[in-house]
Amino acid sequence: MTQTTNIPQLRGLSLQELTALCIELGEKPFRAKQLYEWLYLHRIASINEITNLPSKFLEKLSSIPVSTLTLGDVSESQDGTKKILFTTASGKSIETVIIPSELVGEDNNPKRRTICVSTQIGCALDCKFCATGSMGLLGNLSTGEILDQFIQGEHVAGTKLTNLVYMGMGEPMMNYTNVMKSVDVLTDPTNDMLGPKRITLSTAGVVKNIRRMADEQRKIKLAISLHSVHNHKRSDIMPINDSVPIEQLMETVEYYYCQTRIPVTYEYIVFGEYNTSPADIKRLAKLTRRVPSKVNVIPFHDVDFVRNQADGPALSSATQEQFDNFVYALRAEGVTVMARASSGKDIHAACGQLALSKGA
Ligand code: SF4
Repeated sequence: MTQTTNIPQLRGLSLQELTALCIELGEKPFRAKQLYEWLYLHRIASINEITNLPSKFLEKLSSIPVSTLTLGDVSESQDGTKKILFTTASGKSIETVIIPSELVGEDNNPKRRTICVSTQIGCALDCKFCATGSMGLLGNLSTGEILDQFIQGEHVAGTKLTNLVYMGMGEPMMNYTNVMKSVDVLTDPTNDMLGPKRITLSTAGVVKNIRRMADEQRKIKLAISLHSVHNHKRSDIMPINDSVPIEQLMETVEYYYCQTRIPVTYEYIVFGEYNTSPADIKRLAKLTRRVPSKVNVIPFHDVDFVRNQADGPALSSATQEQFDNFVYALRAEGVTVMARASSGKDIHAACGQLALSKGA
């Protein structure tokens, strides 16, 4: 088999890039559209599944894999959450989670299936409550590796996926180009994948790229990992807050809303008494009134078994009573609150936990 190109895999290439590839391989440019359909609408796993392209062209293409992401362990939680471990071509582990309808969403859609995809191997931001953060950054995922989590995840789910969140391993805004290229494919109506309103990107606060996303008029939703409303505490658990304090983050959120008119979601993990005082509730409610928004309140997953918290404050899970009281108090302040279940707790479904335990 001759190596015809240095492109590592076909899935992930845009129509424009496939057109360039066709020309490079001596084929007519219009073949690119056919190939694009096979990759994204038909979601092939191998070139052998293509039936309407000339055999000579297929022979040339056969030296480039469709996908390089290898499906590994799939574990299913008692609550129906599925956790998938993939191995990249470089031998690193990444994880993807599929969350069933009853655990997510305000729309009560019984057919809702949300996939949570990773965007990086590890992460540089070192949030103290996150297993991935303790790995450091080992690399960015390619557009194809991000899209393959969705496509292979759909096979694992055995049904169509209805929503996608960029909320797995890594900070998606630190891999902006590849993430947005994956958004372009996912939201291309000819691919029958997802509408932009079904996609949410969660960021710890990379303000430069929040502005860029707003300026580019991306129609996907934005979620902000907030977790504390006081700079000194947020800096203790999220080092990014040292360079982007809450005020700057909120100004950026306002800019995003002014440009897009899309309501914002704040993610708020409840760490016992660390971030649930009456002062926290008042300030959180005040912040959320700056633009139309809602707050996802999430129980803390105990990650002690994979993360040494010696370099951060001692964080503990809230009791159910503490959690419920916090949600109640926030609602009493007029905040729209989604109290998210702690999905997949028994299969280590929190960010980075499985990959870390497998030695990513
Ligand atoms: S929470 Fe997200 S941004 Fe923070 S370290 Fe983990 S993966 Fe990175």
